[in-house]
Amino acid sequence: MELFKPLQDLKYEEDQMKIEGDVEKVRCLIIGSGPAGYTAAIYAARSNLKPVLYEGLQPGGQLTTTTEVENFPGYPDGVTGPVMMEDFKKQALRFGADIRWGLATKADLSAHPFKIIIDEKKTILTDALIIATGATAKYLGLESEKKYMGFGVSACATCDGFFYKGQDVAVVGGGDTACEEALYLSGLCKKVYLIHRRDELRASKIMQERIKNKNNIEILWSHLPKEVVGSQNVEGVILNNLKTGKEVKIDIQGFFLAIGHKPNSEIFKDYLETDEVGYILTKSGTSKTNIEGVFACGDVQDSHYRQAVTAAGSGCMAAIDAERWLTNLVSP
Ligand code: FAD
Ligand code: NAP
Repeated sequence: MELFKPLQDLKYEEDQMKIEGDVEKVRCLIIGSGPAGYTAAIYAARSNLKPVLYEGLQPGGQLTTTTEVENFPGYPDGVTGPVMMEDFKKQALRFGADIRWGLATKADLSAHPFKIIIDEKKTILTDALIIATGATAKYLGLESEKKYMGFGVSACATCDGFFYKGQDVAVVGGGDTACEEALYLSGLCKKVYLIHRRDELRASKIMQERIKNKNNIEILWSHLPKEVVGSQNVEGVILNNLKTGKEVKIDIQGFFLAIGHKPNSEIFKDYLETDEVGYILTKSGTSKTNIEGVFACGDVQDSHYRQAVTAAGSGCMAAIDAERWLTNLVSP
């Protein structure tokens, strides 16, 4: 793959953007508007990279689906996810980031400048690309699950577990994430049900041992949630016992999904190295991918921490990495 061939095109003057028909040339393109993308935009704009950011289908990212965020530093009284993400956006706009509605539908990273297609029609050519497309938690697909999202239903125990201190909760899943979430919640909650659809856990042996050694975790084997019930907030869940066909109801206040995440890296998969799930691989301690000039930040490259503050931190890293890379590109 021959990269960086048309270097003569890269003239970083004040008016470096070239727009011809539905093709636009930019210096720094950011894809995604979660904490990672907006933070990258703040830093890139303050470095005069004139970043263009496309928001995608979920402007503000995952946090717009939650109510209170209590663990993001700088908000001593907590803040709602949507308000916090509006604050991120305002801060990026303040420094001149060009934030646009649009979905990146195709990518060609085989040559430089990189080519990204927006909404299947507009072409953006970019010198540096920052991918901040996040990851999507998988849900069961129940109507009632949607209804109580943010009112007892969550896909993040580290984020929302605190709200159920001293109460009874359930975690769905049988992998390492479900076990980790159940263990975390067992330190806060009175009782934790681990609901798994089979009669053996997928999680590593060590996790299984830890779960079995916790007195306040009960595993409900071969059960599948049928309906989340409650009034204003979650009050219980009806389960199908897959072995007996019987229904049971458990009383809980928090219902946590831990059935996997899907990183939003699909359109880059022909070019970027990922792990087996699809998380983009970055060089240790940086946001650099296997292609020079392409940087990844936030949940799309992080299967481990998956927090707003770590996403924001890695967005800052991506913008700094991009700025340094672009500087070296023009003056080697
Ligand atoms: P995301 O927030 O996932 O944003 C991804 C962005 O990329 C979105 O704007 C999307 O529209 C865009 N995008 C995706 N594909 C494309 C595309 N093809 N083209 C253009 N744009 C695209 N973390 C905490 O620290 N504290 C909490 O209290 C907390 N609560 C949470 C509650 C819930 C219910 C959930 C689901 C998560 C919670 N998290 C919390 C985790 C936190 O939301 C994530 O770690 C964080 O949002 C990741 O940020 P990100 O910028 O990497 O991606
Ligand atoms: P995972 O290993 O894919 O497990 C998902 C679990 O959810 C499985 O038990 C699966 O059941 C269940 N599930 C999936 N869809 C379901 C549905 N529709 N209804 C009910 N149950 C459903 O995902 P993960 O736990 O998020 O882990 C992802 C990767 O990260 C793994 O490689 C894991 O080892 C790793 N990880 C490691 C650690 C650690 O080492 N500390 C922590 C977290 C994650 P089945 O088992 O029946 O398929």
